[in-house]
Amino acid sequence: MNNKQRILQQGPLMPGLEARLAEAYDLHRLDTQADPETFLAEHGDGFVGLVTSAAVGADAALIDALPALKVISSFGVGLDKLDLDAAARRGIAVGNTPEVLNDCVADLAIALMLDVARRTAAADRFVRRGEWLEHRFPLGRRVSGAKLGIVGLGRIGRTIARRAGGFEMDIRYHSRRPVADVPWQHEPSLLALAGWADYLIVITAGGAGTHHLIDAEVLDALGPDGFIVNVSRGSVIDEAALVKALVDKRIAGAGLDVFDREPHVPGELMHLDNVVLLPHIASATRETRQAMADLTFDNLQAFFRDGQVLTFAG
Ligand code: NDP
Repeated sequence: MNNKQRILQQGPLMPGLEARLAEAYDLHRLDTQADPETFLAEHGDGFVGLVTSAAVGADAALIDALPALKVISSFGVGLDKLDLDAAARRGIAVGNTPEVLNDCVADLAIALMLDVARRTAAADRFVRRGEWLEHRFPLGRRVSGAKLGIVGLGRIGRTIARRAGGFEMDIRYHSRRPVADVPWQHEPSLLALAGWADYLIVITAGGAGTHHLIDAEVLDALGPDGFIVNVSRGSVIDEAALVKALVDKRIAGAGLDVFDREPHVPGELMHLDNVVLLPHIASATRETRQAMADLTFDNLQAFFRDGQVLTFAG
């Protein structure tokens, strides 16, 4: 008789994490079942834990199909695909992996800002195409000392601001509430921040509350000399408005790690040299992904040992 806690896995996880989970728990994977609905109908009442990721989440239908569920552990910090209300209604604890990814996500935001400004990826393509033999690469734009607007000054936003301080940038931020004890100026109006900034880095939470926060009006306020970087969620920017602003040259360029319909990227962006396109890799270093995997595991272990997860998200 197997007396390990029965855990459901939704979506792929790092192989090492999956192996640890399979060793410690009675682990079953939902999305690879031939018929997940029938599987849930037959076995759903046996699961006390659910392991998922920020990319996959868990909707109310899944949570409702698991009547004995007590804990959800999610790999990643974003909660936009996880129905926290459905979990809260049932008193289900939810753990995610905040903090451990701050450094690498902030590093990548800075890398995107430098790349759109100095056009390193475009310059690399220029050299490979042999164009250096024929003419000079166009001038880039200065980052050091420029004005940086950060949209969302949470854990990662603050980490970005500290790095930007090293570039002696003038930093302001927008969020619904000013943050205490930080040296950067809060700007209550997103439009005013965009109008002021040379670079706008977007790092709010995703979900309904920030859907299309960055719209055509904000992009026009940023203007033809302004650059935008998005490392939050594709949904935070009105992607059609962004594509149009880039095609019409109403903003100077964009560095994008996230998109509305990942892994689909708007075709128009593929042909623009002032846009840097990344496949959602902001936290994707070996060190950070390992730390995220460890915390995903530790949250479950802590719940079954102490009755609470280490990093409570809801
Ligand atoms: P936090 O919760 O610490 O910070 C979120 C920030 O967003 C807060 O400053 C919050 O301030 C602000 N915010 C929320 N709603 C709004 C709004 N409507 N208008 C303006 N500001 C708003 O989260 P983290 O810093 O840990 O992570 C931020 C997000 O980054 C994650 O939710 C995730 O989606 C994304 N992320 C992306 C990764 C990638 O691979 N590209 C990797 C990791 C995270 P306030 O509440 O005062 O408005």
